[in-house]
Amino acid sequence: FLFINNEWHESCRGGKIPVYNPATGKLLCEVEEADNEDVDKAVRSARAAFEMGSLWRSMDASDRGQLLTRLADLVERDRLLLATLEALDSGKVFLMAYFVDLMATIKTLRYYGGWADKIHGKTIPVDGEYFTYTRHEPIGVCGQIIPWNFPVMMFAWKIAPALCCGNTVVIKPAEQTPLSALHMAALIKEAGFPPGVVNVVPGYGQTAGCAISHHMDIDKVAFTGSTAVGKLIQKAAGDSNLKRVTLELGGKNPNIVFADCDLEYAVEQAHSGLFFNQGQCCLAGSRVFVEEPIYKEFVRRSVEKAKSKVLGNPLLPGVDQGPQIDQKQFDKIMELIESGKREGATLECGGAVWGHPGLFIQPTVFSNVTDDMRIAKEEIFGPVQQIMCFRSVHEVIQRANTTHYGLAAGVFTSDIDKALTVSSALQAGMVWVNCYNAMSAQCPFGGFKMSGNGRELGEYALQEYTEVKAVTIKISQKNS
Ligand code: NAP
Ligand code: MG
Repeated sequence: FLFINNEWHESCRGGKIPVYNPATGKLLCEVEEADNEDVDKAVRSARAAFEMGSLWRSMDASDRGQLLTRLADLVERDRLLLATLEALDSGKVFLMAYFVDLMATIKTLRYYGGWADKIHGKTIPVDGEYFTYTRHEPIGVCGQIIPWNFPVMMFAWKIAPALCCGNTVVIKPAEQTPLSALHMAALIKEAGFPPGVVNVVPGYGQTAGCAISHHMDIDKVAFTGSTAVGKLIQKAAGDSNLKRVTLELGGKNPNIVFADCDLEYAVEQAHSGLFFNQGQCCLAGSRVFVEEPIYKEFVRRSVEKAKSKVLGNPLLPGVDQGPQIDQKQFDKIMELIESGKREGATLECGGAVWGHPGLFIQPTVFSNVTDDMRIAKEEIFGPVQQIMCFRSVHEVIQRANTTHYGLAAGVFTSDIDKALTVSSALQAGMVWVNCYNAMSAQCPFGGFKMSGNGRELGEYALQEYTEVKAVTIKISQKNS
């Protein structure tokens, strides 16, 4: 069902979305499909909850924080259930869902629960006849559109900062993965959020997603997904009411390994930095640049690691790679693997389908990759690692930055000068030195260039969910 105004609704037009388990191809269930009219209904409910004088608007900010904290407690209580839903619906490895995704979800909710009553304005020194202060006010109704690769974690990343600042939300999970979002909706009601503060509308991008991005009564849209759709979202904002837009888009992230690094550790980090979540990460370190003296050995060990991966049912212990999300993504990945072979990269291992049924792809490693190949330029979003060779600091910086993306980057070296030089020069929102994918709720997340606009997480996300109001008061009382 659709979750609107703290109630469960059937969709106005009666559409349904089939939900599949990508590990087996079997239908798990159907959920109600939101269309334009349902989005309108959700926006009306979010708008009413945002009216001045509403329960939500007049609530003590610390009570707002308390609601987020309570939601975190409920997620913790239902952690096993949510991780199971996540593994069934998205094909991600259960233990990863339980430990990584759910941990991040809980921590994000708690972190922003703590911020709710600490969002301060300022007093500004101006001409003595005036008194000026600022208020950091919520923006209003926020439309949020999220992808399928981290369904429940993305849900928390989106709603937590929005609610902490006092906004109301209409959120659309990805068509492939609506289940954990619907369970979160039930927990939101149980936590005691007033009706209309959060509305969950599973639907398709071209209908429900479009309705959100074009809506005249949505004040801000936050999107995570492909760069192509990110452009459509920004355009829709311009074509409608110039709603605020934040975007978290793709990446083709460089991971730079110098010869003076701890080799075994760098191999392991580069491996997990790419293969985590079946390679379906905007952060995937999908261009591994390795310095010439260690190149051959690095490739050899990376291949060994890839070959040792255990594929299978993501619910089973011991399995560390599940299926890709759907046929479309599967086909896209296989097509890019073919292009790699055709364009002359060396296929070191993998490159083919694994098992049957289900959408599994063998862990794949390409060496002798050059920067002009499609596998070095396009986001693959699958278990396919590209390893390139470099010779100098200057060269690798140039090559790493030659991309329209700018999300994340890694550097492995024991030389502090190299680490500092390279991390300052890289055009990326996150740079990891001697680690990869090291994230936390308190650390800002987002991209340079075509990887996005704005930042999520940390204190930085608060400014994406507030408007600053400057109030200036004339002081008529003269000091005689
Ligand atoms: P996508 O189309 O960008 O989907 C992301 C979200 O946007 C989904 O909720 C989607 O709804 C919605 N959407 C799609 N078209 C829309 C539109 N015209 N207006 C408003 N919302 C719209 O991503 P995808 O097709 O699932 O995957 C394609 C590629 O995107 C991947 O191969 C990968 O390269 C990239 N991607 C990046 C991330 C990331 O974390 N940055 C996540 C997922 C995918 P539907 O689910 O109904 O399509
Ligand atoms: Mg799509």
